[in-house]
Parts: sequence; C-alpha cells; structure tokens
Amino acid sequence: MIRAASTHSPEVARREAEHARKVERIAAQLRGRAGGGHVSVRKRAVAHQVPKPGDLRRKDEKVDLTDLDRIIAIDPAARVCVAEPGVTYVDLVRATLKHGLVPMCVPEFKTITIGGAVSGCSIESMSFRFGGMHDTCLEYEVVTGTGEVLTCAPDGEHALVFHMMHGSFGTLGLLTKLTFRLVPAGRFVRMRYEKYSTLADYQAAIHRRFAAQDVDFMDGIVHAPDEYVLSLGQFVDEAPYVTRYDWLRVYYLSTRERTEDYLGTFDYLFRYDRGVTNPRPRTLLGRLLFGKLLGSTAWLRAAERLHFLLPHLRPTFHLDVFLPSSRVPEFMAWYDREFGFYPLWCVPYRLPRRYEWLDPRVFAGVEDDLYLDLAIYGMRPRDGRDYHRMMEVKLRHLGGVKTLISHNHYTEDEFWQTWNRPNYERVKARTDPHDVFRDLYTKTCRAAMGRPG
Ligand SMILES: Cc1cc2nc3c(=O)[nH]c(=O)nc-3n(C[C@H](O)[C@H](O)[C@H](O)COP(=O)(O)OP(=O)(O)OC[C@H]3O[C@@H](n4cnc5c(N)ncnc54)[C@H](O)[C@@H]3O)c2cc1C
Repeated sequence: MIRAASTHSPEVARREAEHARKVERIAAQLRGRAGGGHVSVRKRAVAHQVPKPGDLRRKDEKVDLTDLDRIIAIDPAARVCVAEPGVTYVDLVRATLKHGLVPMCVPEFKTITIGGAVSGCSIESMSFRFGGMHDTCLEYEVVTGTGEVLTCAPDGEHALVFHMMHGSFGTLGLLTKLTFRLVPAGRFVRMRYEKYSTLADYQAAIHRRFAAQDVDFMDGIVHAPDEYVLSLGQFVDEAPYVTRYDWLRVYYLSTRERTEDYLGTFDYLFRYDRGVTNPRPRTLLGRLLFGKLLGSTAWLRAAERLHFLLPHLRPTFHLDVFLPSSRVPEFMAWYDREFGFYPLWCVPYRLPRRYEWLDPRVFAGVEDDLYLDLAIYGMRPRDGRDYHRMMEVKLRHLGGVKTLISHNHYTEDEFWQTWNRPNYERVKARTDPHDVFRDLYTKTCRAAMGRPG
C-alpha cells in the first residue's frame, strides 16, 4: 500500500511544525473544557449543508479550525497528498494540477473542503471507480473530545476510528490532517453524451461501463422519465475547442443538446459550481449580470447569514439518495408517482466494501457493488406532505441511504437501523466519552432540525 508522502524537504518540515502548533492549540482547548454545552467546528469556507432555520448548532461553542487550510505536501512520485481539513477543492485541484494530478474524488462545488467531504459526504463522476473521498484516504489525524491526538489508518490500532470518521459529521472527533491518493490527469476532458429513453437501457449502459472501467468519468442527468443522458468523460491532452460553463452556459442543459464536448480539466471538475440541476442565477439575463459573481459559495453564505428568513414549512427539497442499482427500477417507479420532479443528477458509485458505518440490515438481500446516487435538487413541495419523511421510509425498504446534510425526521430507533450503532458506540466511547460533540443522531436529526435533546 502507498504510505504517506515521502517528501522531506525543509519546507515540508516547516509546514509540519506549523501544523503541530495548530493541533496543540485545538487539543488544549478540548482538554481544558470544564464541562458545559456541546462544541462544533468553525472553518473558513462556507458549510455545504442545506441551511435550516432553527439549527441549534449555530449556538454551540466553537473549536476554531479556520487556520487548518494548508496543503502540507504533494508527493508526485507516490501520488499522495497530505493536507489540512480546511483545504478547499478549488485550491487543492489548482495545486495538484501543477503536477499533472487530481484527487480521486472532487466534489463539484469549489469550496467544499476535504475535511467536510470525509466528515459529511462526497460523490462525483469518478465515484464509479474510486467510491467517495474517504475511500481514497490513507491516514487521518484526529483530535478526540478529550484532546488526545490519534493517527488512524485503514488497518492497525485505530482502524475502526478511521472507517467510522466518514459521515460522522464531527461527532467522533476532529479531523486535523488527511493523507490521500491522487491520479494522473490530462489537460482536457473529452465528453460524450449517450441518450436513452428507458431506465432499463440506461442502467444496462451504466453497468457496461462499470464493468469495463474504460472511461475516466461517468455521471448523468435524468431530464425526464423518458430522457436519460449518460455523460462519459475521458482525459485527453489536446482539444479541438473548449467550452466553459462558468458564466452564461448551464452545464446540465448542455448534456441534453450536445453529443460531444471538450472542457479544460479544471472547468470540467467544477462544471456544476453554480448548482447541479438548479443553477443560479436561473435566467440568462441574471447570469449575464451576476453569473460571474454568484457561485455556490456566495449563495450558501447568503442563506446562512439570512437563516432567520428561511421557510420553516415546506422547505425546498435538496437531497442525495444512494440505492443499490438493482433496487433503482422499483425506486424510480415510486419516485415518479409520488415526487415526479426532474431533472435528477445520477452518479454511479462503486461500493468498495460493506461500509462499517452502515448497519448490516441495510445490506439484507443486496448483492450489488454498484450503487446509484440520485440527487434531487431544488424541488418545491407541491402539497403539505412531508417528502423527506416519505423518502426515509421508502429508502429503508429498499436498502437505500440518504445523506444527512438535509432535513432529517428519523426516530432514533429507525435511524440506528440504517447507521451502525454498535460500531459507532465503540468508537464514541474511545474518542468522545463525555459527548462533547453530540452523537450522530442528536446532531443531524435533532439539533440541526432545531430540536433540543
Ligand atoms: C447545495 C449543495 C450541493 C452539494 N453538491 C455536492 C456535489 O456536487 N458533490 C458532492 O460530493 N457533494 C455535494 N454536496 C455535499 C457536500 O459535499 C457535503 O455536504 C460535505 O460534507 C460538505 O463539506 P463542507 O466542506 O462544506 O463541510 P461542512 O458542511 O462545513 O461540514 C460537514 C460536516 O462535517 C463536519 N466537519 C467539517 N470539518 C470537520 C473536521 N475538520 N473534523 C470533523 N468534522 C468536520 C461539520 O461539523 C459538519 O457536521 C452538496 C451539498 C449541498 C448543500
């Protein structure tokens, strides 16, 4: 296995020393706490959570991670990067591209951070090869709720801590350093768009590509129940032309109109930065006037600052759901009947193993190693039904999982039928015995939803 970056330059040593001082400050804050309320992180970049009006986490004591935003080392020979959690993907990609490399998972919004991608979630068009960001990591440094500093790897003493960090939303400790793998990149990405009119043909095409692994990128857009686009990308070093989608053009719409396209690699990776299927500004005039200024970061920051204006009832629906590929036909028949909202973003995802953070019941009767992430972004509820709740119930029946960044209505008992309680509690007892960070259910399903306790 590739180990951490072997770059031992004086500059790297200086950055490591600087990093160690920051970590000591954070650990001391946690060691010195005299009880009291819960803590959560403050980071420099905006949080990519669906903003919620009564979110209790806003009132938490903060552990300040704002200066943890440095790349410590890139080892081009080993194709490994060591970085602090607050590094944004836009900064990371700029730095790695200088070496002709990119991370194996680049979530499409520029200011998602590597720490947030592991602690929350991450998917994108290389996920059919590599899974999520956490699947590409080799080592984490974690500061526990008692101020201890652990080094965790996929095997060894703290292996379970390592595996449970993904999706723990900062409740099992603070990530303070990550070591992860990189892959070679071309200068451009050549896109081809395959069009299908039935779900069966679409899924068959996805399975063929998944088996062949003969493209670098694969995702797609379900424009309508009879209009499926599979977007296939290949790194190339020359391009007859390039198209940019960072101002007037909307990328997801181009997949409907075009059969082929070329994008610069950087532009490809952030092609959805102004929204995947709900880009802002929505109109051409709006984009002409404000499109250069208003990326995802500006919108999310405005929503967070003005959180008191967010609607309490019928919030706009933003959600990612993961489903075993074999269960997608049943899901889509139900979804079309009950939700009927399109377009959907579709991201094929390789499940490298049965994740430790999921309860074994999730996998009952499931043989799939290919999952589909279906992203429903920007649906305005048509009636008073609780669409989040409907989705939670349906996913439990189908062995599906939703990300916890949106609105969560699970009861505690239901929640722990999907998330793995024994594994979670084993790690929690080791890394946060005094419940400084809250537990995962309380943080994501109660505090985030404005419910104490
Ligand atoms: C509108 C929108 C669009 C999105 N689009 C995509 C997409 O295209 N592709 C994709 O993969 N994902 C997407 N996401 C999901 C996004 O990747 C995840 O929500 C991710 O967790 C956000 O990371 P962040 O850096 O913004 O972290 P935050 O949202 O700030 O943090 C996520 C969680 O991790 C915790 N956390 C943050 N840093 C640390 C740390 N150092 N140690 C411990 N805990 C920490 C936070 O407390 C929080 O609970 C989207 C989300 C939204 C809201």
